[in-house]
Amino acid sequence: MSDRRTSFVSRAGAVALTTAVASLGCVVGADPAASWASLGCKWDHVGPTYWNDAYSQGGYGNGFDNMVGEWNSQNTPVDFKKIGAGDESKADMRYIAGAWGSDYDWYGKAINADVCSGGIYPNGVQHVAVSINRTYTDGRANNPNNAVITHELGHALGLAHTPSTSPPAIMYQGVGYDYQGYWTPRTDDVNGINALY
Ligand SMILES: [Zn+2]
Repeated sequence: MSDRRTSFVSRAGAVALTTAVASLGCVVGADPAASWASLGCKWDHVGPTYWNDAYSQGGYGNGFDNMVGEWNSQNTPVDFKKIGAGDESKADMRYIAGAWGSDYDWYGKAINADVCSGGIYPNGVQHVAVSINRTYTDGRANNPNNAVITHELGHALGLAHTPSTSPPAIMYQGVGYDYQGYWTPRTDDVNGINALY
């Protein structure tokens, strides 16, 4: 699908956001202390709903809920809401974990499927899928993997990659394989969300 935008934390360091980052909402230059950038799409509401489909995947299900909690506890308007069993199809987002093998060169990804209409993600029916690739994350400590989840949630909210670790950002493009010692949103990430929402 040509309008599908895929973003990921690459194992090799390559960045898939080649078409999304450069021209959309980047504030580099406006403020040297900021590096966050927009994917060019966001939700029209500040309580995006999610279906967690990873509870059977070891600690990955609880890890996702915990990192949702980390985003929700930040000083932003965003408040992710978990959707209950039976209402899965109504969720804005779906979260899955799986071991997809080394043919897939990413630790985690957020696929924003179908249309981004006027800069807004369509609501419901799990248009955005957040995935973590257990091929690379199994056997690691929790916090490097939590960093991947928090990073993908940042994509799901509309944040793009930041190119470096200065200022520190969970949206640093290499955080999946180049863990920086934090797994919760940093000030730059929060500033980005507050600019978007
Ligand atoms: Zn990413």
